[in-house]
Amino acid sequence: MARIVMKFGGTSVADLDRIRNVAARVKAEVDQGNEVAVVVSAMAGATNQLVDWCQKLSPLFDAREYDAVVATGEQVTAGLTAIALQNLGVDARSWMGWQIAVETDGQHGKARIASIEGEELIARMKIGQIPVVAGFQGIGPDNRITTLGRGGSDTSAVALAAALQADRCDIYTDVDGIYTTDPRIVPNARKLAKITYEEMLELASVGAKVLQTRSVELAMKERVRVQVLSSFTDAPGTLVVDEEEVVEQEIVAGVAYSRDEAKITVRKVPDRPGIAAAIFGPLSDAHVNVDMIVQNLGADGTTDMTFTVGKTDLPRALQVLETARQGIGYAEIASDPNVAKISVVGVGMRSHAGVASTMFRTLAERGINIQVISTSEIKVSVLVAGEYIELAVRALHTAYELDA
Ligand code: ADP
Ligand code: ASP
Ligand code: MG
Repeated sequence: MARIVMKFGGTSVADLDRIRNVAARVKAEVDQGNEVAVVVSAMAGATNQLVDWCQKLSPLFDAREYDAVVATGEQVTAGLTAIALQNLGVDARSWMGWQIAVETDGQHGKARIASIEGEELIARMKIGQIPVVAGFQGIGPDNRITTLGRGGSDTSAVALAAALQADRCDIYTDVDGIYTTDPRIVPNARKLAKITYEEMLELASVGAKVLQTRSVELAMKERVRVQVLSSFTDAPGTLVVDEEEVVEQEIVAGVAYSRDEAKITVRKVPDRPGIAAAIFGPLSDAHVNVDMIVQNLGADGTTDMTFTVGKTDLPRALQVLETARQGIGYAEIASDPNVAKISVVGVGMRSHAGVASTMFRTLAERGINIQVISTSEIKVSVLVAGEYIELAVRALHTAYELDA
C-alpha cells in the first residue's frame, strides 16, 4: 500500500466527462489498496475568465478581492470531483484551502505556503475517505483567501504530499510527461523517463510551465517524489529525481522559452561607480524583478544599460525609471515588449564546454540576432525578437541532438 497525492490540471477537469474520467482514475488507485488525496485545478479557461473580469472592472484591482474571485474556479471542481467520486461509490469530500488549513504568507496573488495541517486528512484517508482539495488557494495571516500565482495547483499538490508524507505526488496533465522541450512547439520533442530536480527547477524558472517553479523547489527541499503523466492515456510518465538516479545524463536536458519578459534600455547613463545601484535600487524598492542585464561598453563617459523585467511589470518599471530620472541622469529610455527568452538547460554543462557557443552559432545560422545573454552554472539564456520563438527553439532542439 502506498499513499499518493493525485493532482489534475485544468484540461483534465475541463468538463463533466473529464471529471468522470478523473474520478475513475482515482477509484482505480483506491481499488489497488492505496491511500489517495486528490488536488484539482479549475476547469481549463476558468481562471483566465476570472482574472479577466477583475482586470476589466479595475486594472489596479485590490489583490485581496482578486484572490477571493480567482480562487473560486477550484472550489467548483473540488466539489464536482467529490460528487463524481461519490457516484462511483467512493467516500469523498471536498476541502477548501482554509478548511485544511493551507496557511500562506500575505502576498495576495502570489502567496507562498507556510504550513499545511495534515493530521485530519491523514485520519480520514486511513478510514478510506478521499479528500478532494481545491488547489491554488490558501489562507493568509489576515484570515483572507490567498492564491499561489498562476499554475499554483502544482505547488498545492507537492506541499500536500509533503504534509501527508505521501510516497508519491502524481501530476496529471494534458501531455504524458516532461519533454526535451514543449511538445506543442516541437512535435518531435522527446519524452524523458527521468529528469533531475535541478534541471526541472531551472527549466520551469525559464518558462517550461509543465510544473510551477515553486512546486519543483518545494519537491526538491522536501524530497517529494514527483511524477508527471497524462490523465488521458496510460503511457508511463516522467519522474523528477535526484542526480544520482539519472543513469545516462545528456549535456543538455531541454530547451525552454518564455514570452513573459519585456526589454528596457536606459540610454547614455554616466559610466561611473554606483550607476547600476541608481537604476536597479528604485526598481527593487518597487518590487519589480529584473532578470537579464547587460551594460554596454562605455564611450564618451556614458554607457547604455539593457535589462528585462516581467511583461506585466513593464508599465510600473517605466514609471519608476521616469521618477528616478534626476538621480540616474540618463538621456532616454526605450522599451520593447515583443521579445522572447530562449534557454537551454543541463547539468552536463558543468563539465562540458561549448554549449553556449553551439547556441550562438545555431542562432546566427538562422539569422536570429541575440539581444541579451545570461548564463548560470547549468543554463544559457538569450533574448531574441518575439517572432523567432518557434524557429529558435526548433533549431536549438536539433542542434543539441534532442530530436526524437
Ligand atoms: P495543467 O493545466 O495540467 O497544469 P499546463 O498547461 O499548466 O497544464 O502545463 C502543461 C503544458 O506545459 C503542456 O501542455 C505543454 O504545452 C507545456 N510544456 C512546456 N514545456 C514543456 C515540457 N518541457 N514538457 C512538457 N510540457 C511542456
Ligand atoms: N487554476 C490556476 C491557474 O490557472 C492554478 C493552476 O491551474 O494550477 O493558474
Ligand atoms: Mg499548470
